[in-house]
Amino acid sequence: MTNEQWINIGLVVLLAAGLWVWLSISEGDVFVDPLNMKRDRVPLSVTEQINQGRTLAPEFEDALGGRMRGVPQDRVSQIGRLLLERLLSLEQQIESETGQSPNWTVHPFRFQVLNSEEINAFALPDGSIYITAGLLNQMNSDDQIAGILGHELGHVVLRHTARAFETAAKGDILLWALGNVFSSELTNDIASGLNILFQLSFSREQESKADAFGYVLTCASNFDPSGLKEVFELFQQLDPGTTPEFLRTHPIAGRRIDQLEGLTCQFPVSSVLRLAGN
Ligand SMILES: [Zn+2]
Repeated sequence: MTNEQWINIGLVVLLAAGLWVWLSISEGDVFVDPLNMKRDRVPLSVTEQINQGRTLAPEFEDALGGRMRGVPQDRVSQIGRLLLERLLSLEQQIESETGQSPNWTVHPFRFQVLNSEEINAFALPDGSIYITAGLLNQMNSDDQIAGILGHELGHVVLRHTARAFETAAKGDILLWALGNVFSSELTNDIASGLNILFQLSFSREQESKADAFGYVLTCASNFDPSGLKEVFELFQQLDPGTTPEFLRTHPIAGRRIDQLEGLTCQFPVSSVLRLAGN
């Protein structure tokens, strides 16, 4: 190895250490977990989450056919608006009772249909929530759509997207630095694919929590909460290779349907989740 490569390796270590220190001492984003009503924190501030999401959004939109307008978009916007209105009123109620905001609606949420036949739905850390036309076409009711949007909304409110991006950001810096050291095309390929991969890295526990959040919020918003269960049942029959984000953890639908049984229209639901084995 040349001296230059050793110097670059030293830079990698310094960068990683610097990032770790920065994430540790930054004020971050403090919020109340709606499933157990306990305060929690992620290192990325809301502003940083918004910036990262906005940087990524065009890439994701282009990859999935671009933004769609017209009737499907109006329908999704309307359902998303009803969910957000309910979330905001719950948030205000808690703030008036406790004197502190749980910070559930701090992201500039938007609900966007993408013009792709691929079956998919996902959220970015800025609060952009996407559903493809392909997935929308499979849905039979507003209740089912509300279930999916509520699940994705849950990933943002519970800061799963912020945590996933934090992990991806560390990986990006490391790969960029490694690419610098070895000038390898391979590392560049990995780095360009990494942003796409980060959204797939939610754990089974995070998926369960997003399910519970989606279920309770849709129910509290006067949608039929069976919609989310119907979506799971519908996709139980699909080829696992086409499984959209919100169904990607295993075992797929059966266990997740069982978990939703017994939930009510109220947060917090941690005791129910514990009973369901999480
Ligand atoms: Zn999910």
